[in-house]
Amino acid sequence: MPRILIAEDEPRIASFLDKGLRSHGFTATIAKDAREALLLAQGSDFDLLILDLGLPGKDGLQVLEEIRGQGEKLPIIILTARDDIHDKVAGFEGGADDYVTKPFRFEELLARIRVRLRGSSLDSGMEETLLKVGELTLDLRTRKVQVGDRWLELPAREFTLAEMFLRHPGQVLSREQLLDRVWGYDYDPGSNVVDVYVGYLRKKLGSDLIETVRGMGYRLRR
Ligand code: CA
Repeated sequence: MPRILIAEDEPRIASFLDKGLRSHGFTATIAKDAREALLLAQGSDFDLLILDLGLPGKDGLQVLEEIRGQGEKLPIIILTARDDIHDKVAGFEGGADDYVTKPFRFEELLARIRVRLRGSSLDSGMEETLLKVGELTLDLRTRKVQVGDRWLELPAREFTLAEMFLRHPGQVLSREQLLDRVWGYDYDPGSNVVDVYVGYLRKKLGSDLIETVRGMGYRLRR
C-alpha cells in the first residue's frame, strides 16, 4: 500500500484528503504544521508528500527547500490556493514534482499521485492496478472498465464512483460517504447528484449491479 504524507493545516481539507486516499487503497498520515512535515518527511516512511504551501511555522516553499536540501527524493506534489505563477515557478525550482491548485477535484489529485508513484520506481509501494468484482474490472492505469467482454471508458467522476463500489463490494455505502469521497468537501450534502450518477453507472455497467438499500444507501452486488 503506498504511504502518503499530507502536510495540510486546514482540518477540513486534511480530512477530505485522508478519507479520499484511504478509500482508494493508500495509507495517509497528516502533518499539521511545517515542523511536523519536515520531521516526518525525513524518514523513509513515505512514498509521496502532498505539501500545502500555506503552513503554520514555515512557508511551504521553505519546507520543500529543506527536504530537497537533505537529498530526500520523495515525490512531492504541492497543493495550494496560490495560483500565482511565481509560486508555481518557485515550486518547480525548489524541486516539486507537480502542482495542484485549490479548489481541486479529488480525482485530479489522485491521477497526479498515481503518475508520480509510477515514476518513482517504488515497486514495493505500488498499489494494484486492476480491481475486479464478478464480471466487472476496473483498470486504474488506463481508466478503462471491462464489463464481461466489453471495454468502455467512463468520465472521471463516474469512474471514481465505480472505483468506490469496487473497493467495497457487498458493503452499503451511504449517500454522504459517496458524496464526501467522490465529490469532495465543497459539495452540498442535500444534493441528489449521487443518485443521478448511480443511475449512469447502472445504465452503462448493468442495471442490477448496484442495489439500493432503502434508507441506507447503495451496495455493489458481489
Ligand atoms: Ca494552509
